[in-house]
Formats: sequence, structure tokens, C-alpha cells
Amino acid sequence: MTIFSKIIDGSIPSKKIYEDDQFLAFLDISQASKGHTLIIPKDPTISVLTAKPDVVADINVLAQRLAKHYVEHLNAQGVNIITNANPIAGQTVDHYHVHVIPRYKEDELEFKTKDQQLDLDSVHKEILESFK
Ligand code: 5GP
Repeated sequence: MTIFSKIIDGSIPSKKIYEDDQFLAFLDISQASKGHTLIIPKDPTISVLTAKPDVVADINVLAQRLAKHYVEHLNAQGVNIITNANPIAGQTVDHYHVHVIPRYKEDELEFKTKDQQLDLDSVHKEILESFK
């Protein structure tokens, strides 16, 4: 049982933002920015890699709703909607969750990628062949 299952059953408190039969949204205990929210499915699955497609679709529609709300009502200028799958990608809780991180001019957050200088043609070829 993960910490998020305990949040769902109420044995660990959380600052709830939204709840329905399928999902719970609550404030991340570590606020990357004001309003940083986690959305989790009540029926646990490990990550986006194991979730059913309709759960992935619905959780992202909910993320969009919250994101638009934060832009309109918290004066956020943008948002990052991200999910981490597996430890290599930074996942620390094995219960699928989507981060909604409102962005503000002054927040100084950086989500940066680094150019790995890979050969684009060979990457493209490898991926196309993997679909065959
Ligand atoms: P991950 O790194 O797995 O994508 O994100 C897990 C998130 O869960 C982290 O941002 C972390 O701050 C948050 N978190 C971990 N434990 C708790 C908790 O007990 N309550 C809340 N509200 N958030 C938590």
C-alpha cells in the first residue's frame, strides 16, 4: 500500500482540491509552485505505463480543468502538466499521479532537457523499425 492509498482512505490527511468516484486531486506536500497539485486515480495502478487508456485520458482532462482554473483564478501565467514513470524518470511513489504545476513569472522553476547530440536519422530509423 502506497502513501497515496492512505491519502485516498483518509488515514493520512491531505489538502483536497477535487474528488469524484474515480479521482482525487490534492496539494503536493512539497509545493514546487503555488497550487502544485497531484491527481491520482482511486483504483491504484503504478504509472502511466500500466494505467488503462481511458484512465490516462480522463486524468489528463481533469489536469486541464485544474490548469485552466489556476490560470484564471490563481493568476498563473502557464502550467506544467507532468507525470513521472519509474524511478529512472524520478517517480518516487508507485501510484500513478499527474502533477499540475502552475507557473508564475517569479517562480524560478526550471524543467530543462539537455541536447544529447544524437544522430537524428538513426534515431528516426530505429523508432520506425520498432513499429514494424
Ligand atoms: P513523483 O516524484 O513520484 O513524481 O512525485 C511524488 C510527489 O508526491 C512528490 O512531489 C512529493 O512531494 C509528493 N508527496 C509525497 N508524499 C506525500 C504526502 O504524504 N502528501 C502529499 N500531499 N504529497 C506527497
